[in-house]
Amino acid sequence: MKCNSKASLSFIILLLPCFVFSQNFKIVPLGVKGGIDESNLSAYMVAPNGTDSYICLDAGTVHYGIEKAISNKVFSIPAEQVLRRYIKGYFISHAHLDHISGLIINSPDDTVKNIYALASCIETIKTHYFTWESWANFADEGEKPALNKYRYKMLLPDSVTPIQNTAMTVQAFPLSHSNLTSTAFLIRSRDAYLLYLGDTGPDEVEKSNNLHNLWLAIAPLVKSKQLKAIMIETSFPDEQPDKTLFGHLTPHWLMAEMDELSTLTGKAALNGFNLIITHVKPPQVDIEKIKVQLKAENKLRLNLVFPEQGKALNL
Ligand SMILES: [Zn+2]
Ligand SMILES: [Zn+2]
Repeated sequence: MKCNSKASLSFIILLLPCFVFSQNFKIVPLGVKGGIDESNLSAYMVAPNGTDSYICLDAGTVHYGIEKAISNKVFSIPAEQVLRRYIKGYFISHAHLDHISGLIINSPDDTVKNIYALASCIETIKTHYFTWESWANFADEGEKPALNKYRYKMLLPDSVTPIQNTAMTVQAFPLSHSNLTSTAFLIRSRDAYLLYLGDTGPDEVEKSNNLHNLWLAIAPLVKSKQLKAIMIETSFPDEQPDKTLFGHLTPHWLMAEMDELSTLTGKAALNGFNLIITHVKPPQVDIEKIKVQLKAENKLRLNLVFPEQGKALNL
């Protein structure tokens, strides 16, 4: 009897971390800026908390970000092992170089894994980057010979796709980004969700409904508190004229979109909600301006998070 209760107690203790930690997400930003500084471009490793089965959302800067995270004691294995073993797949929002150059440069050292993206993004990677003129074809389609290290996994909007070698699933939503289609990825782990948006402009400037449709899709998850955070860009300060936004957001336009979301969720649901600001464009004075303006315009009292390279966020 005594022995039995001891056994069940250790069983509970063993299970405890699963219940406490695996519900939500761990985010390791590998790069947080929207340009110029090639050592700090958009890339975010995401895993269910308590696991090392990460995906990489965009891959502008990979190696330098992993080194930064190691120096902050986020990882305790060498950088090449983080790349090879912890990253289980890449999600590329669009094929602009600041979102994919890290993946290309690290490809010779990487292991077999999937690249998930919408069809148009895969087409650009296939015909412009993984070719024998610009690099080597490390993928499984396109110019021959194909080295077969990366497998293209085309995401269809509106369908939920399991993410191989992780316990997560993904749903992709198209975004309007000037002349191209960018992507939002809705990541699910158990009952928790995380929404990551690639570059996008506001619906009003882009003459689009893409953000509105995205807000419609995720509003119920905000209300039920299953959505743990939205990761969204703010590239320029408010001084940037609409005609030179090139498919990006400012503090004003981000908050206009959050107002739009609040008409679907109610204002109270967004009070304290995690809004992670990505893709801030240098110079540093502009980045500081973006932060000041966002705080001043935060009438909904969102919890504004400014991620730092190599510093883990737990949601
Ligand atoms: Zn970008
Ligand atoms: Zn872009």
